Amino acid sequence: MSAYEGRNLIGGRWVPALSGETFTRRNPADVDDVVGAFPDSSAADVDAAVAAVAGGAAEWAATPAETRARVLEKAADLLEARAAELAAEIVREEGKTLAEASVETRRTPMNLRFHAAEAVRMSGQTYAAPGSALVYTWREPVGVVGAITPWNFPLNIPSRKIGPALAAGNGVVFKPSPLTPLTAQRLVEALLAAGLPSRALALVHGGPEPGAALAGDPRVGAVTFTGSTATGRAVHAAAGPSRRVQLEMGGKNPVVVLPDADLDRAARIIATGAFGLSGQACTGTSRVIALGEVYEPLLERVAKLAGERTVGDGRAPGVDMGPLAADFQLAKVLDHVRAGQEEGAELVTGGRRLTGDGLERGFFVSPAVFAGVRPDMRLAREEIFGPVLAFQRAADFEEALALADATEYGLASGIVTRDLGRALDFARRSRTGLVKVNQPTTGMAMNVPFGGLKESGTQTFKEQAGPTMMLFYTQEKSVYLSALE
Ligand code: NAD
Repeated sequence: MSAYEGRNLIGGRWVPALSGETFTRRNPADVDDVVGAFPDSSAADVDAAVAAVAGGAAEWAATPAETRARVLEKAADLLEARAAELAAEIVREEGKTLAEASVETRRTPMNLRFHAAEAVRMSGQTYAAPGSALVYTWREPVGVVGAITPWNFPLNIPSRKIGPALAAGNGVVFKPSPLTPLTAQRLVEALLAAGLPSRALALVHGGPEPGAALAGDPRVGAVTFTGSTATGRAVHAAAGPSRRVQLEMGGKNPVVVLPDADLDRAARIIATGAFGLSGQACTGTSRVIALGEVYEPLLERVAKLAGERTVGDGRAPGVDMGPLAADFQLAKVLDHVRAGQEEGAELVTGGRRLTGDGLERGFFVSPAVFAGVRPDMRLAREEIFGPVLAFQRAADFEEALALADATEYGLASGIVTRDLGRALDFARRSRTGLVKVNQPTTGMAMNVPFGGLKESGTQTFKEQAGPTMMLFYTQEKSVYLSALE
């Protein structure tokens, strides 16, 4: 397959980085396969992109809401028409399996249609006022939105930011992950082909430098970020106290299993959450907290399911776990496996780099299950973002709740039980933004608000759906109106 030459989109033109520098993205299943070369942008490119969108956003804001909605719907149609091709590109660029990538290419058009409908739903309120006076509120776009995204859902997550931002009438400067620049480019191409004025959107490829410049640019009215908690903190600091910031960050998501659970079911729920997407999901299961006597039989079942995963190139039939997305992801996973053993946890299965049959050209690892993990170990506290699962034992429900909460993160949690009372108690008391009962921690509906608690999110504006999503991308004015006597 030929390598692609990516470009930034600035002021309606596809351009290289001002410096002329590029970076190369390779297939994580086979580093000999070059996906493409993309502009390695600097703060100067961001400066030009923000200036262009600041100039072009007004035209888009003045575009009737029905027209904005039609553009998003058309982009959804175009992405849907190319879904098979896009899914194959996502597999090649990011490393998912084809089945996993296809979920993303199905979901993204649905997102954009949902956002299109929001464009025509924007409304204000009227308030009681003395005499014939009228007080009303109305919502207007914030102007320029900066969108900074990770690689693990390279189409879906950007669509959840760019879609509502455009629906509300904002211009957007999009800084995707340098691991998935091609998919980002495809999303932007679809929006332009659907009729979006080209100065309403800019695409700036690259890494931390353009990201930090975008977050810190005072012309950007709102910064929406998804990524790690460490980077999120840097984005928040760069944006400063008076700017609107939405951060969706990391997780260390536990599943509590009670003694009444069907253990085969529980094991499947856990393995899906832990090893799907090669463990590279923000809501992925990374800890199991098993009560008393279920610990050993559950551990045995989950370890067996881990061992049965077929790891390989996501394009190959029968493969149900692709590579890690990058060399640094592989290094991080192997480092945690080593640290877990050094700290005294028992590696029950997996945790090895896979080689042979060409696998050494990619970042493949066997899914790992650790037993005997104590709350003070790194395995219990740090986000690994790979297929590494830590088993912890709890004596009773209260201890399980305490262990579940014993991290800085608060993204997702789960419980497996037939006891509805316990499940409801867990849902009420678990300090996470997402609670799953008898379901994997991963997976969510696109029409439901999404966001983490504690160090997993800013909690000010829920992402993804509903009124809080549009609140982030709009600002409210209160208008006092009287007729002259
Ligand atoms: P990351 O934090 O390394 O990068 C995210 C984005 O920020 C990228 O575009 C990156 O180039 C950019 N960036 C890097 N340094 C920056 C800086 N100093 N200023 C501004 N931008 C900067 O994350 P990643 O490795 O791309 O993604 C994995 C992480 O994302 C995991 O921690 C995962 O939990 C999290 N994630 C969270 C959610 C959620 O909804 N909560 C969803 C997906 C992924």
